[in-house]
Amino acid sequence: MKRIIVTGGAGFIGSAVIRQYLAETDVFVVNLDKLTYAANLNSLPGAEGHPRYAFEQVDICDAAELKRVFTQDHPDAVMHLAAESHVDRSIDGPGEFIQTNVVGTFRLLEAARAYWSGLEGDKKAGFRFHHVSTDEVFGTLGDEGFFTEETPYSPNSPYPASKASSDHLVRAWHETYKLPVVLTNCSNNYGPYQFPEKLIPVMILKGLSGQPLPVYGKGLNVRDWLHVEDHARALRLVMDKAANGASYNIGGFNERANIVVVKTICALLDELHPEGGPHEKLISYVTDRPGHDMRYAIDSNKIKRELGWEPLETFETGIAKTVKWYLENRAWWQAILDGSYRVERLGLGSDGE
Ligand code: NAD
Repeated sequence: MKRIIVTGGAGFIGSAVIRQYLAETDVFVVNLDKLTYAANLNSLPGAEGHPRYAFEQVDICDAAELKRVFTQDHPDAVMHLAAESHVDRSIDGPGEFIQTNVVGTFRLLEAARAYWSGLEGDKKAGFRFHHVSTDEVFGTLGDEGFFTEETPYSPNSPYPASKASSDHLVRAWHETYKLPVVLTNCSNNYGPYQFPEKLIPVMILKGLSGQPLPVYGKGLNVRDWLHVEDHARALRLVMDKAANGASYNIGGFNERANIVVVKTICALLDELHPEGGPHEKLISYVTDRPGHDMRYAIDSNKIKRELGWEPLETFETGIAKTVKWYLENRAWWQAILDGSYRVERLGLGSDGE
């Protein structure tokens, strides 16, 4: 039975990966997560007590704890998703992003290297450190073109700068120490269990409660949307099939301007929750995010060609399922809203470090 440490498994994408591993494979999963504000173990229904699941509340910056987990769990692979992930928070407080995304990735690489060095034979040859990253490391595009695996890095805000740093560390540990790694850079994800601070859940929840829908700038920034279950499937495939040292861009060829995304959500809310509609009247244009990248678009032909991956959802099917999920799973997000988090504006950099 393959044993995989998934870091950040209580987050949005990590929990999707673990739900799939438990439901669709015979992999044993160790969920290693610090449980920051963004974590939610309720995103893993049925995991607790599952015979192929273990949870370790560990900070990836804690070298001694990482050593303990590697020694105890003896993994065949690590899928590294743990990160601070919200651009607006990175503008207000970049320190935490450097700590977790850069220092934490460094500590995890060192723990993995020490463990891997002690392996032998097939277990050593087959070991993988899979680093999960973002297309935001490539910076911004004009009206044309796509990010490929060869696009030079050019991050524009603290979050992608910290992720770019971690990507470079992973590549360097491969080149210098021969640690077997794979790297993936993915476009914007959406879907069930996404923390209500990112664009799509914010708009759904504000729309449901009749609050203004804050669109940054003129809403013309373009993102390339991928349903989280499609991303999780791609990550599992890369983990299984990718050659040592390979890197893949993951995206769904689903570019949409933010205003189009918001209007699509409004139309779905009009249909599924007509109270207070039409929801488009709630749209309110607010001050743009500093350093707001204009357009991201991913060329994912390499993963399609080499590994046969294709997304199952179009943006239209995925967003309809997502709005429906938030309507049907109020208990999940209500518990978050009742706690410390309020759906408030972050990221104007006013109280930065
Ligand atoms: P998330 O914010 O929902 O979850 C992050 C998880 O990491 C949380 O459970 C948190 O508790 C954990 N974590 C944070 N700091 C930690 C630390 N020091 N030690 C251990 N655990 C810690 O993030 P997400 O959206 O699921 O993103 C997961 C990964 O995928 C990140 O590396 C992110 O950069 C990358 N990514 C995200 C997107 C996206 O659209 N969300 C797109 C491409 C890539």
